[in-house]
Amino acid sequence: MNEQRLLDTFFDLVKLPCPSRHEAQAAAYCKEALEACGCTVEIDDVGERIGSDTGNLYAVLPGTAPGSIVMTAHLDCVQPCEGVSPRIVDGVIRSDGTTILGGDDKVGVASIIEAVRSLVEEGGSYSTVKVIFSVQEEVGCCGAREFSSGSFEPGEPCYVFDAEGDVGLVCLAAPFYYSFEARFSGKASHAGVAPQDGISAINAAALAIEKMRLREALGAVGDYCASNVGTISGGSANNVVAPSCTLTGECRAIDEDAVERVRAAMDEAMHEAAAELGATVEVEWDLEYRGFRLSEDAPAVALFNRAARRVGLEPSTVLSAGGTDANMFVNLGVEAVVVSTGMTNFHSVDEYLKVDDLNNTARIAIALAREMAV
Ligand SMILES: [Zn+2]
Repeated sequence: MNEQRLLDTFFDLVKLPCPSRHEAQAAAYCKEALEACGCTVEIDDVGERIGSDTGNLYAVLPGTAPGSIVMTAHLDCVQPCEGVSPRIVDGVIRSDGTTILGGDDKVGVASIIEAVRSLVEEGGSYSTVKVIFSVQEEVGCCGAREFSSGSFEPGEPCYVFDAEGDVGLVCLAAPFYYSFEARFSGKASHAGVAPQDGISAINAAALAIEKMRLREALGAVGDYCASNVGTISGGSANNVVAPSCTLTGECRAIDEDAVERVRAAMDEAMHEAAAELGATVEVEWDLEYRGFRLSEDAPAVALFNRAARRVGLEPSTVLSAGGTDANMFVNLGVEAVVVSTGMTNFHSVDEYLKVDDLNNTARIAIALAREMAV
């Protein structure tokens, strides 16, 4: 493996602007790099359907041994991600403080590219490596959502390089995730002249929030569970009893029955509150993605553990609070786990990455292809 080349690739990638829907420059860079290694590279037509200037990149490096594994990362970044100027101080890579660094998820992208280059250069025994670089992960895993079960071989382990935490950690579970929009309707009336004739939708929404007792729901059931009201808007003027008010929010839990219990409790609270004040409410729930849980002894986990030990890292497992492309792949029947890459404070201008973690992430990627061939 070539550490300087890996670092150069990482710097090249974070400097390319690639907010969600504008991943074309990064995709072109990766296509060129992977084709130069002898990969067949395709970019699918998802971009046209979901509004990106490119599609998902799908590459195959033929192995020298039987078996195949999938390694994935996403091309897009959250804002502010344009004009990234990376620098290294004491072994830590940061931006100049005005943008994110973009390690989410360019650590994954650069490490997988370096793994492919190293395997080809060093030769020896390795399995076929299938690479997926997806678009629009940050806005709802929209690129990964377009894959079908036919995109994967049965039993093929899949590694999604897209988690915080020390390199060597692997994520076995991620939550089910619901969002909601609740529209409270009351009755408008002059707030000074005839307040008794009005029904305040804002009061109904406020009572609903109180009833949801959001904080108490946290961690109440299962391994991980959380809920939140994210926005509130409504009313028309200071002297009008508010005829309408809208709440939006979410709930998530790793266990399906837990997420359904929390959702039902929130839904009930909103209907109860509306009824108590004589208002009405329509609540629309959207299951944005399904969660998953793999067992500690799943073959994909066992392979990861062997790969980590091969490069001198102690593997361990963790549960995730967020969704990634892995949620999409697991629900196609693929054994997908999320691999930690060392990115820290991601989605903020304080994001940083240790050079050692970048190197170790690439080492793990190489070791996965080699262990698969053992
Ligand atoms: Zn990410």
